[in-house]
Amino acid sequence: MDASIITIGDELLIGQTIDTNSAWIARHLNELGINVKRRVAVGDTADAIKAALDNEITESGIILVTGGLGPTSDDITKPLLCEYFGGKMVVNEKVLNHVKDIFTKRNRPFLERNLRQAEVPDNCQVLHNRMGTAPGMMFGKDGKIIVAMPGVPFEMMAIMEDHVLPLLRNKFTGYYIVHRSILTVGQGESFIAEKIVDIEENLPEYIKLAYLPSVGMVKLRLTGSGENETQLIQEIEYWQNTLSERLGNIVLAKEDIPIEQVIGRALLEKGRTVSFAESCTGGYLSHLMTQIPGASNYFKGSVVSYLIEVKENVLGVSYQTLEELGAVSEPVAIQMVEGVRKVLNTDYSLSVTGVLGPGVDDGRNPVGTVWIAVSDGNTTVAKDFRFFYDRIRNKEMTATMAMLMLWKFINNQL
Ligand code: AMP
Ligand code: MG
Repeated sequence: MDASIITIGDELLIGQTIDTNSAWIARHLNELGINVKRRVAVGDTADAIKAALDNEITESGIILVTGGLGPTSDDITKPLLCEYFGGKMVVNEKVLNHVKDIFTKRNRPFLERNLRQAEVPDNCQVLHNRMGTAPGMMFGKDGKIIVAMPGVPFEMMAIMEDHVLPLLRNKFTGYYIVHRSILTVGQGESFIAEKIVDIEENLPEYIKLAYLPSVGMVKLRLTGSGENETQLIQEIEYWQNTLSERLGNIVLAKEDIPIEQVIGRALLEKGRTVSFAESCTGGYLSHLMTQIPGASNYFKGSVVSYLIEVKENVLGVSYQTLEELGAVSEPVAIQMVEGVRKVLNTDYSLSVTGVLGPGVDDGRNPVGTVWIAVSDGNTTVAKDFRFFYDRIRNKEMTATMAMLMLWKFINNQL
């Protein structure tokens, strides 16, 4: 069974809003074994929406639509769908009560305009929206399913999870797609390809391997399809393990998770803690670390020592070193990492100091120079890097390299 996704909204076409809805929907349909044939984005005009529906209904059995369901005049999807499928608008009591309830809870006056939110086509099945006022709507035509949902991502997700995905799962069980990933670090894709060439040749034709390289890392993704889910999972995990064993210590995780989560798990396992001293990343590393639930079990905190006086006064970096060598230097990175480990009393620590651009710092280092250091009290390792992008990208690269260094250090691979 094929599906099409139509996202509606002028904001999508001018690049003001990034269309995350169709990516989310595609991922979840894919997990059910439903092939997404096409993703289409159109503006808030009747002609464009009708044309998209005409096209996709001839192509796919499932058409999922998001956007244009708001109460304002720019949102025209609801009456348009009603007309398209030959119905008329009626007030739905259940939706009306739900909408009024939301207004009461939020202490907002209920306007005449809001009555429109409770109007739905009489030829659709109404899908309750527990996260907002605009309900989802499901239409049927020639055995095809057409679902319209609000554009607000968390409302769309709630309707998908509560109604659409269970229905589709029920209707189309029997054909599954399973993914498994392996995250590797420190080697390029050609090296990896060379190392696993014979395994790759032996993969059954219904299991595909993809290489997804990013900064300092390569993700390997196995995708299998078949009718017996349990058997498919067993098989794909067999290949995942075979590849992972062959790749040895360059494997970071057998899951698609961010490196800060991998580090978190390693620290948790060892019962160790970590702290950061951040200069040029300004707290970004700490932000990444605290994105993971439960980070307080291993991440104690950080000192954002952006200015020299903080490096000196809080972390105990020697004024003389700062004067002589500048803030972006190996000794400063080392003194920062050793300082923060003591100040915050942790097992491990990480420090970063660099000049991200666009302007030169104190002129002693070329733009993009970064020193990163890690320490456990007995051993301290510092390395310099050079990045060649703009300020923001340089910061992201610095964060990735810092996390990689910390991971390697914790795993005695540095
Ligand atoms: P709408 O249902 O058209 O009123 O959309 C409400 C809001 O949801 C918009 O202002 C956008 O911020 C957001 N939105 C709409 N479509 C999408 C989409 N495809 N991906 C992500 N956000 C969206
Ligand atoms: Mg809109």
